[in-house]
Amino acid sequence: MAKKILFEKIDIPGIQEYEVYRKNGGYAAVEKALKTMSPNDVIEQVKASGIRGRGGAGFPMGLKWSFIDKQSGKPRHLVVNADESEPGTFKDRHLMHHLPHLLIEGAIVSSYALEANLSYIYIRGEYMWIYKILEKAIKEAYANGWLGKNILGTGFDLDLHVHCGAGAYVCGEETALIESLEGKRGNPRIKPPFPAVSGLWGEPTVVNNVESISNVAWVINNGGEEYAKIGIGKSTGTKLISASGHIKNPGVYEIEMGLTVDEFFHSDEYCGGMMDDRPLKAIIPGGASVPILPPQYIFKTANGEDRLMSYESWSDGGFVTGSSLGSGGFIVYNDSACIVRNTWNFARFFHHESCGQCSPCREGTGWMDNILRRIENGQGREEDIDLLWSIQSQIEGNTICPLGDAAAWPVAAAIRHFREEFEYHVRFPEKVKNRDHFADEPMEKVRHLLG
Ligand code: SF4
Repeated sequence: MAKKILFEKIDIPGIQEYEVYRKNGGYAAVEKALKTMSPNDVIEQVKASGIRGRGGAGFPMGLKWSFIDKQSGKPRHLVVNADESEPGTFKDRHLMHHLPHLLIEGAIVSSYALEANLSYIYIRGEYMWIYKILEKAIKEAYANGWLGKNILGTGFDLDLHVHCGAGAYVCGEETALIESLEGKRGNPRIKPPFPAVSGLWGEPTVVNNVESISNVAWVINNGGEEYAKIGIGKSTGTKLISASGHIKNPGVYEIEMGLTVDEFFHSDEYCGGMMDDRPLKAIIPGGASVPILPPQYIFKTANGEDRLMSYESWSDGGFVTGSSLGSGGFIVYNDSACIVRNTWNFARFFHHESCGQCSPCREGTGWMDNILRRIENGQGREEDIDLLWSIQSQIEGNTICPLGDAAAWPVAAAIRHFREEFEYHVRFPEKVKNRDHFADEPMEKVRHLLG
């Protein structure tokens, strides 16, 4: 049986409720940290665990914590990023829905480590039912002395609030999230200064993803070194993967880092292989913003090694033959999928979500949306494919926040690996007007048509 950290207790009936959670060892990490460890001890344990941020960027969490400014004397804050909006990613939703107290326990220990007395969980507006679950759980934590003044008689005070966003993808970017939390429009800030120095209300702030914070209780209970023994290389611990698309068993899975992609994809414990046993066409391993890959680069790296579910292995080969573990949104496509339509769908999303502050992102996402729409609708021009390539390359690396890159990468990867589909759309417009064209025209036939 695969190692479980986050989902260790998820099958216990009623684990969502405080009493059940507590009876099954819940809040032990708060007792241990507050009564027997200093804030710096907690930071050292998290550093020793090697855990990397689970929101997508994979930055080492302990290192991020060590950057927080404790010298200025200003109040400090932890903000849990629950603004999960990346298309194809739905792991935090599952975690918060079933294990709200695991997140709250982690937030208390993390706030103690950061010496923060006022912390927030920022949740996306579409997760209203989870907002209510968290509100209830926070009330229970207050009622049982885990939040509020002088927690466990240790002198540590903490107020924790859950704040609901209004449904903007860009608010998942930490500085946009902070702006939104301050009551302003969620526009990303230019960095530096980084939130660890000047975050919420200009005060030192750490923003961490839900999954990252939910690991903290296990790290404290078992020790950072034990956590580091799980996983592979610099990808320690486990990872939640939201698997969707044309597979037999879509769902949220906790995997140990280092599992082969082949096992994750084929095993009945996880994806179970292709739905209806149709051929595999492509996989996006880490949510809509990371590069899509064709079958030849999914199970093996370009060097012929097994591709693993880890940060390093997925990025092996860069964005030419590799991709990124990202947020763990594992999306699978069979041979009926139209890559052009899929790319347009993502482009439309990023265009809609661009905050408009930087010209390359504001204008570029709009142009990519328009050009992809006309290609998909059978009105594409020969030069459109190169034009798309040129636009995405002018966005990447030239914007304030990563949304620009997130919009550019899917377009670049789709053209890099599936250029013939774009050419097919441009050269056979009458065929692509049939909305199910790839259900009838497998790639072999497309290649034949293209000569
Ligand atoms: Fe806004 Fe896009 Fe610039 Fe990010 S990259 S700040 S979303 S315009």
